[in-house]
Amino acid sequence: MTRFIDSHAHLDSAEFDVDRAAVLARARAAGVGAIVLVAAPRDLAEASRPLELAETDPDLYATVGVHPHDAARIEESWWPALERLARRPKVVAIGETGLDYYYDHSPREAQRAAFARQIELARALGKPVVCHVRDAHDDAHQMLDAAGIGRPGQPGGVIHCFTGDAGQAAAYAALGLYISFSGIATFKTAAPIREAIRVVPADRLLIETDCPFLAPIPLRGRRNEPAFLVHTAGVVAREAGLSVDALAGLTSANARTLFSLTPP
Ligand SMILES: [Zn+2]
Ligand SMILES: [Zn+2]
Repeated sequence: MTRFIDSHAHLDSAEFDVDRAAVLARARAAGVGAIVLVAAPRDLAEASRPLELAETDPDLYATVGVHPHDAARIEESWWPALERLARRPKVVAIGETGLDYYYDHSPREAQRAAFARQIELARALGKPVVCHVRDAHDDAHQMLDAAGIGRPGQPGGVIHCFTGDAGQAAAYAALGLYISFSGIATFKTAAPIREAIRVVPADRLLIETDCPFLAPIPLRGRRNEPAFLVHTAGVVAREAGLSVDALAGLTSANARTLFSLTPP
């Protein structure tokens, strides 16, 4: 029985090296039928790891891209290599890319350049963009809008692990973008994020773990894993006014549409 799709997981992380097979078995037992393994490599050698994992299992899919934290590490020679990887059939999106002005681990200029380049790659390949945006919603919205991401006939996109407010969520949805909610939505202090859930149109709603980070309440502080998605689903369903089953069906259909996944 497939109920959930975890739209954003870092299962290639070394934190799963000791028990990855058990993590996947627990995911299936918890009803998580498909998982999108999102790339956030520190160097080019790591860029293919999610893809290599996805190619071993029909329920796993991968992305290719470079996180905004690492934008300044990118060398020109990475781009043709990333494009070659991104053309492989199991790659369902480009990312995670975007803008993070909260941490500013890379200069903002470098983040914008890497984001623009990955948007361009997504458009060239006709694959959607997985966007990480923190404290940079005006710039991200402007760049995605200018590139037409989310418009009919253009690649789609998702703002993953959404931490903005209801107004920002509505503005992204108006572009045709998806909004994905993580375990943060379960945290006591996250009232503005729960408010955002209520304004996202049903056909633009996604859920994710972003594991190994951000385990939801009541597991906060532990290593996160796809099986824990059910706790986030419960909160998102409540805010969206849906049963957990309806939310699971809806968000799984949305993930299949955005990432062009084959039907179960
Ligand atoms: Zn992220
Ligand atoms: Zn991530």
